[in-house]
Amino acid sequence: MIVADRVCKNFGALQVLKGVSLQVARGEVLCLIGPSGSGKSTFLRCINHLEQVNAGRLYVDGDLVGYRERNGKLYELHPRDAAKQRREIGMVFQHFNLFPHRTALENVIEAPTQVKKVSKAQATARAKELLDRVGLAEKANAYPAQLSGGQQQRVAIARALAMDPKLMLFDEPTSALDPELVGEVLTVMRELAESGMTMVVVTHEMGFAREVADQLVFMDGGVVVESGPPRDLLANPSQERTRAFLSRLL
Ligand code: ATP
Ligand code: MG
Repeated sequence: MIVADRVCKNFGALQVLKGVSLQVARGEVLCLIGPSGSGKSTFLRCINHLEQVNAGRLYVDGDLVGYRERNGKLYELHPRDAAKQRREIGMVFQHFNLFPHRTALENVIEAPTQVKKVSKAQATARAKELLDRVGLAEKANAYPAQLSGGQQQRVAIARALAMDPKLMLFDEPTSALDPELVGEVLTVMRELAESGMTMVVVTHEMGFAREVADQLVFMDGGVVVESGPPRDLLANPSQERTRAFLSRLL
């Protein structure tokens, strides 16, 4: 589903990604860990083309992200085609970014009705299903300010799912939450993984990574230092940098 081949990204003179290569198969969950500033968020943003890659290739579902290739040369996609690519990827952020003046249900139907032109009745029926799936059937008419952080984040997940993405990206989805609210969000994410969704999750929740991820990737300084099945990597990191990072975390 994702192939990253020596992906590089810089901001001016600052090289943030220095050749990141990894692959995620359909239905797999990859957890990405690494110190602050190592390029985790930048890499996620490259996957849905919120940032443009400077070198290397990034494919989602067989398509080059943001470009078309012809005779070995890359051409930027028409904004319309780039937007279409992005729509197929759901993203959930640390701060839930719900529309404050819309109810949970209205937040969930916004993109399907506005972007995909789904009828309001159809979008509403689906939104109710999704809110039920994240355990919030009762809160459909609540405004974000009336919801806890964990509930808001679950609405944000339902909102992303409403576009029927083929891939979900999560950038530290629980790190802004009070500790007692983390579990309910991780439970929803775990169920999503079990349903077969392909997911890339930046997280420092090692219990989640150990139990749910197929691959754990440790990034530092814009490169993948080490990756592997989470149990192996956590129990027996081969790189000193990974060892040092994990010992600070656990
Ligand atoms: P954290 O764990 O703190 O979220 P991260 O691994 O997600 O860190 P990134 O947000 O990807 O790290 O940032 C990597 C580097 O890129 C940092 O040095 C950051 O300052 C820089 N950076 C990120 N976005 C931009 C931008 N739009 N313009 C300039 N520099 C940026
Ligand atoms: Mg980040």
